[in-house]
Amino acid sequence: MDGQIVQTKTDAGVLRIDLFNLIDETVPLPEIPNDLSRVLVNFNRVTFINSKGIMNWIRWLKTVQTKNSKMVIELVDLSMAYLRALEMIPDVLPGSAVVSSMFYYFFCEKCGEEDSLLESNAKAATVPVKVCAKCGGTMELEMSPEVYKTIARQAP
Ligand SMILES: [Zn+2]
Repeated sequence: MDGQIVQTKTDAGVLRIDLFNLIDETVPLPEIPNDLSRVLVNFNRVTFINSKGIMNWIRWLKTVQTKNSKMVIELVDLSMAYLRALEMIPDVLPGSAVVSSMFYYFFCEKCGEEDSLLESNAKAATVPVKVCAKCGGTMELEMSPEVYKTIARQAP
Protein backbone atom coordinates (compact mmCIF):
# COMPACT_ATOMS: atom_id res chain seq x y z
CA MET A 1 0.00 0.00 0.00
CA ASP A 2 1.19 3.47 -0.88
CA GLY A 3 2.33 5.86 1.77
CA GLN A 4 -0.09 8.45 3.01
CA ILE A 5 0.21 11.49 5.15
CA VAL A 6 -2.43 13.34 7.13
CA GLN A 7 -1.67 16.73 8.64
CA THR A 8 -3.68 18.21 11.49
CA LYS A 9 -3.05 21.67 12.81
CA THR A 10 -3.83 21.65 16.51
CA ASP A 11 -3.78 24.48 19.00
CA ALA A 12 -0.83 26.59 20.05
CA GLY A 13 1.39 26.13 17.04
CA VAL A 14 1.45 22.35 17.01
CA LEU A 15 1.33 20.41 13.76
CA ARG A 16 0.47 16.72 13.93
CA ILE A 17 1.60 14.50 11.07
CA ASP A 18 0.21 10.98 10.83
CA LEU A 19 2.13 8.70 8.49
CA PHE A 20 0.58 5.57 6.97
CA ASN A 21 1.85 2.41 5.27
CA LEU A 22 5.05 2.69 3.25
CA ILE A 23 7.56 5.50 3.69
CA ASP A 24 9.61 5.90 0.53
CA GLU A 25 11.05 8.77 -1.49
CA THR A 26 7.62 9.82 -2.76
CA VAL A 27 5.98 10.48 0.61
CA PRO A 28 5.50 14.25 0.65
CA LEU A 29 6.83 15.25 4.04
CA PRO A 30 5.52 18.80 4.39
CA GLU A 31 7.30 22.10 4.59
CA ILE A 32 7.06 23.36 8.16
CA PRO A 33 6.07 26.99 8.71
CA ASN A 34 8.32 28.99 11.01
CA ASP A 35 5.55 29.99 13.41
CA LEU A 36 5.12 26.46 14.76
CA SER A 37 6.59 25.46 18.10
CA ARG A 38 6.18 21.71 17.82
CA VAL A 39 5.82 19.05 15.18
CA LEU A 40 4.44 15.73 16.26
CA VAL A 41 4.99 12.76 13.94
CA ASN A 42 3.01 9.58 14.52
CA PHE A 43 4.48 6.29 13.23
CA ASN A 44 1.75 4.00 14.60
CA ARG A 45 0.48 2.96 11.16
CA VAL A 46 3.78 2.88 9.31
CA THR A 47 4.39 -0.66 8.05
CA PHE A 48 7.65 -0.25 6.12
CA ILE A 49 10.38 2.33 5.56
CA ASN A 50 12.63 1.55 2.61
CA SER A 51 16.15 2.90 2.19
CA LYS A 52 15.01 5.83 0.05
CA GLY A 53 12.35 6.54 2.64
CA ILE A 54 15.02 6.70 5.33
CA MET A 55 16.96 9.24 3.22
CA ASN A 56 13.75 11.21 2.65
CA TRP A 57 13.05 11.28 6.39
CA ILE A 58 16.61 12.28 7.40
CA ARG A 59 16.69 15.02 4.75
CA TRP A 60 13.34 16.36 6.02
CA LEU A 61 14.56 16.37 9.64
CA LYS A 62 17.65 18.35 8.66
CA THR A 63 15.59 20.89 6.73
CA VAL A 64 13.24 21.40 9.67
CA GLN A 65 16.10 21.74 12.16
CA THR A 66 18.04 24.15 9.96
CA LYS A 67 15.01 26.35 9.35
CA ASN A 68 13.94 26.51 12.97
CA SER A 69 16.39 25.27 15.56
CA LYS A 70 13.90 25.83 18.41
CA MET A 71 11.25 23.61 16.90
CA VAL A 72 10.47 20.57 19.03
CA ILE A 73 10.16 17.38 17.00
CA GLU A 74 8.11 14.82 18.90
CA LEU A 75 7.89 11.22 17.69
CA VAL A 76 4.94 9.11 18.76
CA ASP A 77 4.15 5.37 18.65
CA LEU A 78 7.39 4.20 17.04
CA SER A 79 6.41 1.01 15.23
CA MET A 80 8.38 -2.01 13.97
CA ALA A 81 9.26 -0.30 10.67
CA TYR A 82 10.76 2.68 12.45
CA LEU A 83 12.61 0.57 15.04
CA ARG A 84 14.15 -1.60 12.29
CA ALA A 85 15.33 1.54 10.48
CA LEU A 86 16.77 2.90 13.72
CA GLU A 87 18.63 -0.37 14.32
CA MET A 88 20.45 0.15 11.03
CA ILE A 89 20.83 3.92 10.85
CA PRO A 90 21.06 5.95 14.08
CA ASP A 91 20.40 9.25 12.22
CA VAL A 92 16.77 8.18 11.90
CA LEU A 93 16.41 9.48 15.46
CA PRO A 94 17.92 12.97 15.77
CA GLY A 95 19.44 13.77 19.14
CA SER A 96 17.16 16.76 19.57
CA ALA A 97 13.91 14.85 19.08
CA VAL A 98 11.60 13.77 21.87
CA VAL A 99 10.11 10.27 21.77
CA SER A 100 6.92 9.94 23.78
CA SER A 101 5.88 6.37 22.98
CA MET A 102 6.97 3.22 21.21
CA PHE A 103 6.03 -0.41 20.67
CA TYR A 104 7.73 -3.43 22.13
CA TYR A 105 7.52 -6.56 19.98
CA PHE A 106 7.74 -10.05 21.40
CA PHE A 107 7.87 -13.60 20.13
CA CYS A 108 7.61 -16.92 21.92
CA GLU A 109 10.42 -19.38 21.22
CA LYS A 110 8.31 -22.27 22.48
CA CYS A 111 5.19 -21.86 20.36
CA GLY A 112 5.89 -19.10 17.86
CA GLU A 113 3.25 -16.70 19.20
CA GLU A 114 3.85 -12.98 18.57
CA ASP A 115 2.64 -10.03 20.54
CA SER A 116 3.22 -6.31 20.94
CA LEU A 117 2.87 -3.68 23.60
CA LEU A 118 2.58 0.09 23.24
CA GLU A 119 4.32 1.91 26.07
CA SER A 120 5.05 5.50 26.89
CA ASN A 121 8.72 6.38 26.96
CA ALA A 122 10.49 6.97 30.27
CA LYS A 123 14.11 7.88 30.97
CA ALA A 124 14.65 4.87 33.22
CA ALA A 125 12.98 2.49 30.81
CA THR A 126 13.00 -1.16 31.69
CA VAL A 127 12.05 -3.71 29.07
CA PRO A 128 8.64 -5.10 29.96
CA VAL A 129 8.29 -8.81 30.59
CA LYS A 130 5.60 -10.47 28.53
CA VAL A 131 4.08 -13.86 29.21
CA CYS A 132 2.89 -15.83 26.19
CA ALA A 133 -0.91 -15.82 25.98
CA LYS A 134 -0.87 -19.20 24.24
CA CYS A 135 1.57 -21.34 26.23
CA GLY A 136 2.48 -19.31 29.31
CA GLY A 137 6.17 -19.13 28.44
CA THR A 138 8.26 -15.98 28.81
CA MET A 139 8.41 -14.12 25.52
CA GLU A 140 11.59 -12.81 23.91
CA LEU A 141 12.07 -9.26 22.72
CA GLU A 142 12.19 -8.99 18.96
CA MET A 143 14.37 -5.88 18.75
CA SER A 144 17.76 -5.34 20.33
CA PRO A 145 17.42 -3.81 23.84
CA GLU A 146 20.02 -1.25 22.72
CA VAL A 147 17.38 0.33 20.49
CA TYR A 148 15.20 0.97 23.54
CA LYS A 149 18.12 2.37 25.52
CA THR A 150 18.70 4.89 22.74
CA ILE A 151 15.01 5.80 22.74
CA ALA A 152 14.88 6.12 26.54
CA ARG A 153 17.56 8.79 26.40
CA GLN A 154 15.09 10.92 24.47
CA ALA A 155 12.12 10.58 26.75
CA PRO A 156 10.09 13.78 27.24
ZN1 LIG B 1 4.19 -19.47 23.65
